[in-house]
Amino acid sequence: MTRRKKIYEGKAKILYEGPEPGTLVQYFKDDTTAFDAQKKAVLEGKGVINNRISEHIMIKLNGIGVQNHFIRRLNLREQLIREVEIIPLEVVCRNVAAGSLSTRFGLPEGQALPRSIIEFYLKDDKLHDPMVAEEHITAFNWASTQEIDDMMALTLRVNDYLTGMFGAVGITLIDFKVEYGRVWENDFARIILADEISPDSCRLWDSTTNEKLDKDRFPPRPRQRHRELHRSGPPPRDHEGNADRHPGRPPLVKATVQVFLKPGVLDVQGKAVEQALHGLGWGGVSQVRVGRTIEFDLAAGDAAAAEAEVKAMCDKLLANTVIESYRVEVA
Ligand code: ADP
Ligand code: MG
Repeated sequence: MTRRKKIYEGKAKILYEGPEPGTLVQYFKDDTTAFDAQKKAVLEGKGVINNRISEHIMIKLNGIGVQNHFIRRLNLREQLIREVEIIPLEVVCRNVAAGSLSTRFGLPEGQALPRSIIEFYLKDDKLHDPMVAEEHITAFNWASTQEIDDMMALTLRVNDYLTGMFGAVGITLIDFKVEYGRVWENDFARIILADEISPDSCRLWDSTTNEKLDKDRFPPRPRQRHRELHRSGPPPRDHEGNADRHPGRPPLVKATVQVFLKPGVLDVQGKAVEQALHGLGWGGVSQVRVGRTIEFDLAAGDAAAAEAEVKAMCDKLLANTVIESYRVEVA
């Protein structure tokens, strides 16, 4: 098998050469960074989730006329994208004061802004992504005046869409960052949305409690170790020696498995239920998690053996242990 060519490895993603000219494969890593990349960690399953979220948002944005680089998702961690000439700017859109805006102007975190504000930062980790003005952008030829206007107009449309999408499930979009790139058609360049839109690039707060739901919560909660703790081997095989110790059919036990998204994973369904309950007057409800229950009978020697077997089933099939945790009861 020929190895594909790696084009670039960044903090959160790897770009590989795509199957067709003008395409790339964007691979989402589990690496997380926060606070100007000073903090780093691996958050298991993050890449899988961001790949999905970015896919969902890019498809929806395309539907409302915001053209972007997404072509199709290839697998859990990869998507096929159109290669663009990246404009070396991070375009930030803010709705509520937080982070560096609060520090710079002494605004209390959480204060609503009089209107959405768009800022440009130079994409340069060594310089810590300094904020730049339109004058710098045009003088240094990072983008033209027309391109700046296009990026601002597109970013406001993205903001409208994302604000509505998150608002519907009780989440406030405080601010977010996007990147744009050029695609060339003959001698004309057009700007399209590139990179990713995910909780990595959005500052998100719970609309009722103002709890921070994004990477401002760094470090991520310690990884749940249930996989290591509960992993057990394949079901013990019958062999002749067992026949005497377990004469006849082993007794049936009732197994109940409950599966929930892990605490650090955004539970959109839970948020929607919580919001609906608040709307009906149950304002005291918080931390709603929506899970699923799986029940079955199992022929097993004893409760301990049954529990071990059910946990093995969870690891292999019943739960997606990258993003879900589970509870097992046998009776
Ligand atoms: P970084 O650490 O530089 O932010 P990432 O880990 O986010 O890098 O990897 C994605 C990189 O790929 C970014 O530098 C981004 O500008 C670039 N990129 C995103 N989309 C495209 C695209 N469609 N074509 C070319 N480059 C892209
Ligand atoms: Mg990036």
